[in-house]
Amino acid sequence: MKTSSIAMFEALALDAFDLPEGVTYLDGNSLGPLPKAARARVDSMLKEEWGKLLIGGWNAGGADGEGWMDQPLIQGDRIGHLIGAPKGTTLVGETLSIRLYQALAAALSLRPDRKVVLTDSGNFPSDLYMAQALLETLGQGHELVIVEPEEVADRIGDDVAVLMLTHVDYRSGRMHDMAALTKAAHDIGALTVWDLAHSAGAVVVDLAGCEADFAVGCTYKYLNGGPGAPAFIHAREDHCETARPVLAGWLGHAAPFAFEQAYRPGPGISRFRVGTPPIVQMAALETALDVFDGVEMADIRARSIALSQGFVERVLDKTDLQLASDPDPQKRGSQISLHHAEGYAVMQALIARGVVGDFRAPDILRFGFAPLYNSRADVLSAADELAEIVASEAWNRPEFLTRKAVT
Ligand SMILES: *Cc1c(COP(=O)(O)O)cnc(C)c1O
Repeated sequence: MKTSSIAMFEALALDAFDLPEGVTYLDGNSLGPLPKAARARVDSMLKEEWGKLLIGGWNAGGADGEGWMDQPLIQGDRIGHLIGAPKGTTLVGETLSIRLYQALAAALSLRPDRKVVLTDSGNFPSDLYMAQALLETLGQGHELVIVEPEEVADRIGDDVAVLMLTHVDYRSGRMHDMAALTKAAHDIGALTVWDLAHSAGAVVVDLAGCEADFAVGCTYKYLNGGPGAPAFIHAREDHCETARPVLAGWLGHAAPFAFEQAYRPGPGISRFRVGTPPIVQMAALETALDVFDGVEMADIRARSIALSQGFVERVLDKTDLQLASDPDPQKRGSQISLHHAEGYAVMQALIARGVVGDFRAPDILRFGFAPLYNSRADVLSAADELAEIVASEAWNRPEFLTRKAVT
């Protein structure tokens, strides 16, 4: 990485996000921090756009007056740029669970003769639940086959309609080889649905280079769009023209304001629109995407590896904690997971000292690294705090052992 990029990260780390004094935030893989510019932008959206333009905002709102209605496509292209998707193939809106359902249903509609959806046991439960519910609703004898992550490649066979995987495992950080698995799926005539929840804004993704069919992801993790920020969906250019969008909402219609009685899918990716987009939330997301302007994902990735390696080397040097992530940084996302039988209490003790990570059942301490706001000094002192808590058993106190609703 060039020195200029390193200097730029230091500047971003100082400038772009509003983090409480004394907090080292290693949980951007769950909810990214508040971009400093978000408050003014949301405020002006409320005052100048909603407040003054009222219904006219749909045509004339937005930071540049381009209208609220096109925001899902405009922001979709900005996210597309970060995940290697060509312009006009990515769209923002709805939640990730809904986008996953929609992408899987669209992919299945392109392979009506096959009945297997292949996924792995590391996938996020919501993705598995949505897939199970979809297959049940279809009632055509589809089967969700769940194998271990390392067995996926071997199970890809000609009964598979869709390979549905989360690129970076939320628990361990394990990262699949998207190019190789997509190619293996295509070789036997299957389609792919990639969930990029823990990839977008964190690792280099090249959807076009992989010829990936569909991808979905959220914008509130490494993209820092805020709690409740909308998801995104990408469909390969040829699928944009042919796939059934399945959730046939009025905004995906070819002519929403003709108010026709029958559904006709709109052009390109716009057919995957469903309902009215969350414009206030998208004003915040816009400022989060601004932070990525002019930053190369390859530089973010290089710096993320340096941060996570620095952290993990220090932790393994000072403790006997077991790594739940792959020791090879190329095989994991921007995340380090460690086992500890009392992981919940350890994390609570760490949070009490200003180091924020999270806990995932049954015994995982999870730390996300975001070069846009984490510095090397901070992650090293976070490692020191963790080592001290483990060695002293400072976690062994009633206030740390009692579980809250959201872990
Ligand atoms: C975070 C996450 C989700 C959450 O879905 P929402 O609909 O946004 O609540 C789904 N899938 C994966 C893989 C995730 O990491």
